[in-house]
Amino acid sequence: MKAIHVKEFGGPEVMKLEEVPDLIPARHQVLVRLEAAGINPVDIYILAGTYPRKPALPYTPGMDGAGIVAAVGMGVKNVKKDSRVYVEGAATGTYARFCLADAANVHPLPPDVSFAQGAALGVPYATAHRALFGKARAQKGETVLVHGASGGVGIAAVQIAKTAKLRVIGTAGSEQGLQLVKEHGADEVLNHKDPDYLEDLKNLTGGKGVDVILEMAAQVNLGKDLGQLAPRGRVVVIGSRGPVEINPRDIMGRDATVLGMTLFNLTPEEKEEIHKDLVKGLKNKTLKPVIGKEFPLDQAGEAHKLVMQPGSFGKVVLIP
Ligand code: NAP
Repeated sequence: MKAIHVKEFGGPEVMKLEEVPDLIPARHQVLVRLEAAGINPVDIYILAGTYPRKPALPYTPGMDGAGIVAAVGMGVKNVKKDSRVYVEGAATGTYARFCLADAANVHPLPPDVSFAQGAALGVPYATAHRALFGKARAQKGETVLVHGASGGVGIAAVQIAKTAKLRVIGTAGSEQGLQLVKEHGADEVLNHKDPDYLEDLKNLTGGKGVDVILEMAAQVNLGKDLGQLAPRGRVVVIGSRGPVEINPRDIMGRDATVLGMTLFNLTPEEKEEIHKDLVKGLKNKTLKPVIGKEFPLDQAGEAHKLVMQPGSFGKVVLIP
């Protein structure tokens, strides 16, 4: 089968489309013929070889995908051959025509959700769900700032938070991004490139501050976030690409909490609960992943470059 084959860590140029051996599912695995693969920023960090999780070389990148079940292992009871599914945490990379995944990481994809949308679910939607409920314990009626709402995790967070009846303020760095965030349910939008946007944020809450911040760029924002929290507010650090200076007094004075999370730390039980909820949201159409751009598999490098550029607009996916 065709797959992106990585023989050395590095930039986008080390990803080569090659013929690799076919895959056979083990007892508890599912073989999925992929129709789309989701690109997550973590794929890019792993490819660079600087991330704590370092796969053995050679390897195929990608954790998220969607397609049709081609075969199941002898011990698999809950996933049927020929069904439409999305996959998260694949056992073999999803930048490929086929992948293997544990049956627990394969979930039903409703008929009116496209494969590209299915590939946008795994990391982004599970991350947004866990950050909002598992970490921040967000409650109906609270105000959440989705700080970086125009990308994969951000759009997911806006949709999930609105479903839970939170007031949502979302930020983006481009007009197109702001429009997208608004269309997907944010009550208010702010441009994080505007020098006055934190003042505007304060005014939007009548000076009270926000209850929850989901932070996609903590290396830029964490210090400022702490000054934007309401009493007992919570910041969840989802993304950070470097260090940042904070004033701990901003946490003390508000009885605030700074929480960190990594999706890889989910327990199997937490994961099962989250995906049950996500499938429910797909079925009742409250969750609608947004695809910014599709690339053919042999342009995985170009797709990686786009993901790292500003001006996010939903999810970037590969079509094998
Ligand atoms: P993405 O699709 O590339 O989106 C990036 C988002 O960050 C966009 O909304 C972008 O807005 C925004 N952003 C850029 N500069 C910003 C700034 N100065 N202030 C606020 N927002 C800013 O990436 P993603 O998949 O949503 O992931 C977001 C981050 O979370 C990444 O760093 C990723 O590695 C991390 N992440 C962590 C976990 C975890 O388990 N902890 C899981 C998933 C993702 P504009 O482009 O419109 O400026």
